Amino acid sequence: MKTLLSLSMAVLGFALIPALPAAEKEKHHSHDHEKRESGPNGGRVVFSVEPHFEFFVMPDRKVKITFLGEDKKAIAPTDQTVSAISGKRSKPTKMEFTREAGALVSDKPLPEGERVPIVLRVKASPDAKTVTEKFTVDMADCAECDLKEYACVCDHEH
Ligand SMILES: [Zn+2]
Repeated sequence: MKTLLSLSMAVLGFALIPALPAAEKEKHHSHDHEKRESGPNGGRVVFSVEPHFEFFVMPDRKVKITFLGEDKKAIAPTDQTVSAISGKRSKPTKMEFTREAGALVSDKPLPEGERVPIVLRVKASPDAKTVTEKFTVDMADCAECDLKEYACVCDHEH
């Protein structure tokens, strides 16, 4: 009986082992993929805040922040607050964000220029720590995809 039990344990173990590496690989693959996805509007996804959000420059150059749920789809903002400073250090543009159509939209457009530095300050809730996200909004069209460079997820150097 003891032999039979250990035999069936061995068989079970043998059956399970080959399945593991494939599952691991799949997990890693989808993780990498997720990091490289652009947002629902074709903007840049910022992962430093929970919930993650999409940074998107609208045609009038106002900035739209859309928070994303687990399925990467837009969720309405609750008590998150966002502010930003953009443009040249000598002449910064302060932006406040207000709720508009399920997102947070800046009161002012991005300053002139094709490469505009921005500092976003995001609070996920009134008690949360402020998360600062700095990057350059590169408004050039990517040569390889339909996105602007700031949102591009292509595999090239910027
Ligand atoms: Zn691209």
